[in-house]
Amino acid sequence: DTIGANLDRAVRAFPEREALVECATGRRWTYAEFAADVDAVALGLRARGVGTGDRVGIWAPNRAEWTLTQYATARLGAILVTINPAYRAHELAYVLDQAGVRLLVAAERFRTSDYAAMIAEVRPRCPELADVVLLDGPDWPELLAAGRARGRDGGLEELAAIERELSADDPINIQYTSGTTGFPKGATLSHHNILNNGYFVGELCNYTEQDRICLPVPFYHCFGMVMGNLAATSHGACTVIPAPAFDAATTLAAVAAERCTSLYGVPTMFIAELADPGFDGYDLSSLRTGIMAGAPCPAEVMKGVRERMGMTEVSICYGMTETSPVSTQTRADDPVERRVSTVGRVGPHLEVKVVDPETGRTLPRGEPGELCTRGYSVMLGYWAEPARTAEVVDAARWMHTGDLAVMDEEGYLSITGRIKDMVIRGGENVYPREIEEFLYTHPDVLDVQVIGVPDTRYGEELMAWVRMREGAPPLTAEAVRAFCTGRLAHFKIPRYVHVVEEFPMTVTGKVRKVEMRELAVAVLA
Ligand code: ATP
Ligand code: MG
Repeated sequence: DTIGANLDRAVRAFPEREALVECATGRRWTYAEFAADVDAVALGLRARGVGTGDRVGIWAPNRAEWTLTQYATARLGAILVTINPAYRAHELAYVLDQAGVRLLVAAERFRTSDYAAMIAEVRPRCPELADVVLLDGPDWPELLAAGRARGRDGGLEELAAIERELSADDPINIQYTSGTTGFPKGATLSHHNILNNGYFVGELCNYTEQDRICLPVPFYHCFGMVMGNLAATSHGACTVIPAPAFDAATTLAAVAAERCTSLYGVPTMFIAELADPGFDGYDLSSLRTGIMAGAPCPAEVMKGVRERMGMTEVSICYGMTETSPVSTQTRADDPVERRVSTVGRVGPHLEVKVVDPETGRTLPRGEPGELCTRGYSVMLGYWAEPARTAEVVDAARWMHTGDLAVMDEEGYLSITGRIKDMVIRGGENVYPREIEEFLYTHPDVLDVQVIGVPDTRYGEELMAWVRMREGAPPLTAEAVRAFCTGRLAHFKIPRYVHVVEEFPMTVTGKVRKVEMRELAVAVLA
């Protein structure tokens, strides 16, 4: 199926059910209303010259127009280039240029980001960018009006004709990776890639048209647009946009007000929600499930999510932008132990294997190595970068994830870290994840990250970055040593401890260890 055909199916089955709610403005759409607006946006874009295969950029925080644009471009077979709203002018220019964006849909401004000014600044440098549609001025209503007029004038037959020419294997989306380990790469994804992923993620969450999914996760990333939006339309569920950007209190308020049954987040979001001073005042009793993904989740947080938020069926997903994104997922009928301590088993119609990163040999169960995945989800490639694609997708179409994993006897996988984050201290391989899990059990610790820093004697030494709970005294290196001694092998005990208010983060809410390693050198100097 194409994304357009998939939406049509939801509209036929559930025309009167709610498809989308935007809490910040109180706007709501049924499936029938939503599809009508999608068609209007598609025809409005068509009137501005957008055709199949053209790249259309979207640069805005989460809002209803984002979702409308997502489906409208899919209807046209245009390739949606999702741009991180935290980018600055030079990053914008890079993406516009790299992907050859022809039309850009953008918010005018949000908080400290003046998108309109940054677009004006880069425009002379981006010759392919022919057109800009700003969401907050007159452009967007004009686009909608033009699209509706064209719809009354034979436009819908025009869309149906375009649809008949589309193939599910056509590229439909260029998504840039989070940039956790370096500069973001543009993964090119097809209808087939992301629609299947959205469908199966929703299936394993047991979504039906009764579900209401709260999405504080960014839409520019697969987590929001595939695991959220596409999973919802594939099952007739409703998506709820709590706010343009993540905020713990607003998210909890949206869940309560909209009676959401599902809530998404990266671990740091759930940590913030559980620590919210008003937590007990929100009625979260409608929550049944949700998805935690994107980064390793401490077992303590999982416990809080299940027990205090009532998300008993919460699912952990593992994946990456390059694989549309999900490769493994826990299921509601997995044993509870497995659902809090692993990232689940491989998804339907996908394959996984754990290999020795040096030799490529497949390792026996129980041995850590590089995780490789294969199946419908593997991207078409990095946009216009065949050499970089060949570094990660091999001739047999296995995606080499760069993540370290262990598979147990029953096929459950645990992610033990990233190859790039592994610390080699005095010849011992140390997985920061294991130490983080342990330090997390310290009562004064709110959040913790462990990195390797250069050391003349051991090659690398361990450094823990710690965020303290409110009112707790800063943790010292001596206190950490005392806490760990006798419970962790000596070579795993962090030598340095650095107390901070916040970690350097990506907008997707992931900790940027590369940046921490750079900063650490300065801290230690
Ligand atoms: P970049 O590739 O630009 O450095 P990134 O890898 O963070 O950034 P994404 O594609 O957004 O970009 O994230 C995928 C990565 O997130 C995975 O490769 C893995 O390291 C991590 N990840 C995703 N889900 C989980 C999970 N459930 N547990 C642990 N790690 C996870
Ligand atoms: Mg990556």
